[in-house]
Order: sequence, then structure tokens, then C-alpha cells
Amino acid sequence: MDSSYLIKYAKSADANTMFDGAPLTDLQRELLARVDQYGVAWAERAFKHDREASFPTANYEDLKEMGFLGLCVPKRLGGIGADYRTYALVASRISYYCSTTANTFNMHNANALWTADMVDALELTPEQRESHEHNRALHYGHMLAGKIYAQPFSEGSGAAAGKHPFGTSAHKTADGWVLNGKKIFASLSGHADYYGVLCTEDVAEPTRAHTMFMAVPANAPGVSVVGDWDPLGMRGTVSRTLLLKNVVVPDTAQLMPQGVYIQAASQYPHMFMTLTPCYMGLAQAAYDFAVAYLRAEVSDVNVKRRMYPTKQFGVAEMYVKLQQAWALFHRVTSEFKRNPSRTERMRAYACQYTIMEYSAEICSAAVKVCGGQAMLKNFPLERMFRDSRCGSLMLPWTAEICLDRIGHGVLYEEGERDD
Ligand SMILES: Cc1cc2nc3c(=O)[nH]c(=O)nc-3n(C[C@H](O)[C@H](O)[C@H](O)COP(=O)(O)OP(=O)(O)OC[C@H]3O[C@@H](n4cnc5c(N)ncnc54)[C@H](O)[C@@H]3O)c2cc1C
Repeated sequence: MDSSYLIKYAKSADANTMFDGAPLTDLQRELLARVDQYGVAWAERAFKHDREASFPTANYEDLKEMGFLGLCVPKRLGGIGADYRTYALVASRISYYCSTTANTFNMHNANALWTADMVDALELTPEQRESHEHNRALHYGHMLAGKIYAQPFSEGSGAAAGKHPFGTSAHKTADGWVLNGKKIFASLSGHADYYGVLCTEDVAEPTRAHTMFMAVPANAPGVSVVGDWDPLGMRGTVSRTLLLKNVVVPDTAQLMPQGVYIQAASQYPHMFMTLTPCYMGLAQAAYDFAVAYLRAEVSDVNVKRRMYPTKQFGVAEMYVKLQQAWALFHRVTSEFKRNPSRTERMRAYACQYTIMEYSAEICSAAVKVCGGQAMLKNFPLERMFRDSRCGSLMLPWTAEICLDRIGHGVLYEEGERDD
């Protein structure tokens, strides 16, 4: 399909509620404009990657050319220096054009965001600060040289939900750290150069405080990618299973010093919201497609459908949800900080829930309001419908877990228990 209708819609403040009214810095404007230069090509490639369940390699070549693999690498270390909100804006715009590119790009950038300013604000010993400075410079250097980092945490257990320590182990030897374990849904598997793996230090009684965050080179002996990849949606993420069998990595593989991950996870809850922008941009894309389709502005559509009151009503309902989601998005992405208040933390869960669920609801409504021909595979809508369903399944903040935390948080004060 010719996706050039996106050029008009991406830029039109009337039709596009994306950043209308949101204060943007010069850097944010510039980065969004750069995404727009490449976006239509990504939108057109998305059909093939969805059909084949193949990785959008050419889009990553573009991201390299744009310097975006260093998007969240601090400026003083050679990167673009996007902070959390800037990252969120850019990621939502990438997803507007290609959601699987945004979904996987999230994994790459989280490795940089989590190890930059956020760690500097935590309590580290002088030795930990020194080793962290050294290690991250090494990994940021890889990113700036065009290396792609993935972030496989999930193990099919409660570990990624924060219920217990990760089953993947890291055992210290004279030769370095020996890693063993299995990660499911390793997005970018077979396409990343490094896997940012959460694992547990091999001690007598491991707890979550023994969590380690290690960068494992994809070509290290003992690393393998196994299993099929034929899912409902987000097919271009190529999220196969990663096996680590006696993989030896040096001390410099530590993306965070020992014991720091758990501090970060409890003090910076918003760090688990880096995937949210992907589903926000996707919802906007489905909405814009529906508007363009009903106005007969999409290629191969000659019949206008906008004059029917039920279509107008359907679009209006989508618009209302989109506005609600963007309002929360803009507020919550501006609240990223160390030790946010209880209200800010609860709002973050509400934002995550809203965007992940509304994304699927907006995409579903778009299929209904546009009608039968719109769900044929020459249009992007049926793919958006499938892709959007994945958002609320993502640990650690699935839609269900967000509701659990909101419900408990509303009914119990801090530390309050029933006798
Ligand atoms: C397209 C796609 C790409 C993905 N990419 C990645 C990736 O790159 N990296 C990555 O780490 N993961 C990735 N994931 C995995 C994702 O984050 C989840 O881990 C995965 O969807 C969970 O599947 P499951 O069947 O194990 O889920 P579930 O069974 O829902 O959850 C697994 C476990 O979590 C706990 N749990 C679930 N719900 C609750 C609850 N309400 N309360 C308490 N505990 C609960 C339980 O112990 C449960 O056994 C991806 C998923 C998809 C769909």
C-alpha cells in the first residue's frame, strides 16, 4: 500500500492529536522531524516483516544512519542524550510508522536509559561508581558504533513480574562470570549484537537483591537462539528463545554494579514504562488510518464513508479515548523521577493500563468503523489490531498487574495490613 497519506496526517494538528499542545524542546522537535523523514518507508516495509515474521533490518540501518542507536546515550559520552520524556516522544513517533521497530527499539534504548543518569542518582560506593563509569562507556561505545542491544528478561515464571529471583544464574569464577539460563520472548533474537540479561548471582540463598544486569555478546560460545516465531502480533520483533549455556563474560559485562538493579527498580518505577510509547503511537496510527480511510484519502479507496452518523460516532469514540490516553501520556512521561510520590506511582500504573488497553480498543474500533474491506491485508489495520493486543501482556507491568497494584494501593495505606 502507498503510505504517503501518513505525511499529511503526521503533520496535521487538526487530525493528529499526537503532540498538539504539548510543549516540545528544540531537540524533541528535531528528533521527531528526523523520524518523519524515514517513517513512510518503514510503514511500507512493515507489511513484509509482518507477513514473514522477519526483523526490520533495513529500518535499523536507517536508525544507525540517523545516529539513533545512541539516542539515550548521554551527550557527554557521545550520544544524543535523550532523557526519558524525549525518548518516549520519539518512540511513539517511530511506532506511528512501524510498531515492531518501536517495540524492539525500546529494548535497545532501555539498556542505555537505565544505566545513565538514573544510576548516577542511586546510592553507589565510590568503587561502584568508578566501575560503572568504565563499563557503561564501553557499552555506549558499542551502541554508538552501531551495535544493537536487546533486553531479554522473561523466563515464563514470576521473575519478570518481580515475584522471585531470576532463574538465570551468574557464577563468579577466575575467568569471569559464567551464565546459565533460558529467556523466552527475546525480542531481536538473532539480530542483536548484545543481550542485556537480568540474572541472579549464584549465592547460597539468592534473593532479588542479588539480581545482576549483564550484557552478553550474541557471538559468545554457549549463546543460542532456538524455537519458532509465529505469533499473533508484533511479528517483526522476532522474539524467540535465548539459551545461555556456560557462557563466560568478563566483569565489564555488568551494565549495573551488583545490587543496584533492585535499588533502581524500587526507586524509579517509571523505568518499566519504556514500552508504553510504542502502543500510544500505534493507537494514533490506527485512528489516523481510520480517518483517512473514511475520507477516502488512502490509496485504493475511492468511496467516502464519512457522511454516515454511525461512522462519525465511532470515530468520535476513538477520538475521546485517544485524547484520554495522550493526556495521561504527556503528564506521566513528565513525572519520571527518583522516588516519585505515591500518587505519581499510581498514576503511572493508570497510564500504562490505559494506553495498553486503549491501544487494543482503538485498533479494534478502527476495524469496525472502517468496515470489511479495511481489514484486508493490503491495508495496515488488521496488523495494527493484532500488534496492539500484545501491549497489555508485557511484564512487569501487564494490564492485570497494574490493576492489582492500583486496587491494593487505593484500599491500603503504605504498610497497612489486615489482622
Ligand atoms: C511481542 C512480544 C515481545 C516481547 N519481547 C520481550 C523482550 O524483548 N524481553 C522480555 O523480557 N520479554 C518480552 N516479552 C515477554 C513479556 O514481557 C511477558 O514476559 C510475556 O508476555 C509473559 O508471557 P507468559 O505466558 O509467561 O505470561 P503470564 O503467565 O501472564 O506471566 C508469567 C508469570 O508472571 C506472573 N504473573 C502474571 N500475572 C500476574 C499477576 N496478575 N500477579 C502476579 N503475578 C503474575 C506469574 O508468576 C506468571 O506465571 C515479549 C512479549 C511479546 C508478546
